[in-house]
Amino acid sequence: MGNKSYVKPTLVKQLAGVMNKFGNSYYKSYKESIDGVSVSSLTEKYGSPLFVFSEKKLRNQYRTFYKTFSTNYPNVQFSWSYKTNYLGSICNVYHQEGAIAEVVSAFEYEKARANGVKGSDIIFNGPYKGEKALEKAFAENAIVNLDSFDEIILAEAVAKKMEKQVKVGIRLNLDAGIYPQWYKFGFNLESGQAFEAANRIVHSKYLNLNGLHCHIGTFILEPQAYAKQVEKMLLFMQKLEKGFQITIDYLDIGGGFPSQSRLKGIYLPPDIVVPDIDEYAEAICSTLFKYLKPNEYPKLYLETGRALVDEAGYLITSVIAQKNLPDNTKSYFVDSGINLLYTSTWYNFNIQPDRQILGVPEQCKIFGSLCMNIDVLAESVYLPPLKNGHKLVFSPVGAYNITQWMQFISYRPAVVMVMTNGNTELIRRAEKLEDVTGCERIPEELSLS
Ligand SMILES: *Cc1c(COP(=O)(O)O)cnc(C)c1O
Repeated sequence: MGNKSYVKPTLVKQLAGVMNKFGNSYYKSYKESIDGVSVSSLTEKYGSPLFVFSEKKLRNQYRTFYKTFSTNYPNVQFSWSYKTNYLGSICNVYHQEGAIAEVVSAFEYEKARANGVKGSDIIFNGPYKGEKALEKAFAENAIVNLDSFDEIILAEAVAKKMEKQVKVGIRLNLDAGIYPQWYKFGFNLESGQAFEAANRIVHSKYLNLNGLHCHIGTFILEPQAYAKQVEKMLLFMQKLEKGFQITIDYLDIGGGFPSQSRLKGIYLPPDIVVPDIDEYAEAICSTLFKYLKPNEYPKLYLETGRALVDEAGYLITSVIAQKNLPDNTKSYFVDSGINLLYTSTWYNFNIQPDRQILGVPEQCKIFGSLCMNIDVLAESVYLPPLKNGHKLVFSPVGAYNITQWMQFISYRPAVVMVMTNGNTELIRRAEKLEDVTGCERIPEELSLS
């Protein structure tokens, strides 16, 4: 038996606010590999920092969600929310699994078409679609949900110009008990505005109303909010069908299911605060059955984003320097920053070293490498004594980071996917100078040569 190696003793100062009634949060765990591929081999090959996605997790989560809803309701279609993560390989995993695309801009519409998705398999939402994109969407029979009276008028003009009668849905906002309530999108239900919008469309020569859409918010921790939302949508649907003698083909209930991430300000861990997907499915589907007549099941679209992709994504980053702050807090600097992790504003990430490290976990702060004081990736986290070069694995980071990351001060790193077969594939290479300067133009008189 060899001697144990020496480990420097550590004094851990107890600060008010760090403890809560559930005890101290020590993160003693470590993460050596992702789906069997070692963290060190990944960074050796692709560099650090590095985003890593697990194909297995993407598919398993999708299958769990699809099964949960499709066994509870006969007409379910998931639609992948592009803005949550529109890397082609991520989208295509969902498309291979059977999801169509949900896009909120002309750019995302083009991205979905470039990924190989048919126009008729695209749900087009968002407050600004634009005339050209609407024309393309109508020509390709996309599912278009209109957001404002101005957009109804625009859609009508586009359809008239095309000499085509087109089907459209409308987007609703309503009180489902989630506050602050989202009023920005679509037509308000309770005020009668949504009825006015429906009335306007029904009386148009070029537009046919056939769908209702509503996205009540994101990270909704209350399944009953969906029951309320669906109930209001169903009653509205019945009012329209009866009053105007039309058929509503689909109810699109948006996204908003939470992922297993720790929100700032919520002490309890996600496995306690985040309800199981079964509870959401039960709330939604039992409400549908309560109001629908047998054998009249409109299509139920789900635009789940965050809850499908978040846990499948990791960011590996390396410790590059350390400092003791004036109040004696230990701090580590890593080679990534808030430019890559937009969700650091809301989440306390799980932060795990890539190896078992001896020593008492100490409260420390993690700074990013941007030249900005606000670039803090963790205000307070317990970590064992790290050395420069040690890797940290941040998770979950699969939702809303890859689409909202910024090219600011440094290049955006590579993204890889660990495939179900054990191989690793590059799905976005690291950026180079030409990627940034490629869009620029320096006029002759500003040239230095
Ligand atoms: C962002 C968005 C979604 C996805 O929301 P999540 O909270 O990530 O599930 C779905 N539908 C619309 C219209 C959206 O804007």
